[in-house]
Amino acid sequence: MSDHSAIEWTDATWNPVRGCTKVSPGCKFCYAETFAERFRGVAGHPFEQGFDLRLVPAKLEQPLRWLLRGRYGKSPLDNIGAAG
Ligand code: SF4
Repeated sequence: MSDHSAIEWTDATWNPVRGCTKVSPGCKFCYAETFAERFRGVAGHPFEQGFDLRLVPAKLEQPLRWLLRGRYGKSPLDNIGAAG
């Protein structure tokens, strides 16, 4: 998550959810899971709990502070619509 993104079509990315739930065979080689699991158990890291799906309540208000400043997009390293 960042309020400065290198993605050309957005100014920032937002990531209030960590992890996801595998829902189809297409998830077999999920790059986001591989990335997140590298940090499982690393104290203080955003992916300390690996790819386990969870909400980060402290991040929910962050876009409100960005709205008046520009465009933003949701990070691809989570699935905010995933069923837990
Ligand atoms: S992010 Fe979630 S939905 Fe997307 S491939 Fe990974 S497990 Fe599947």
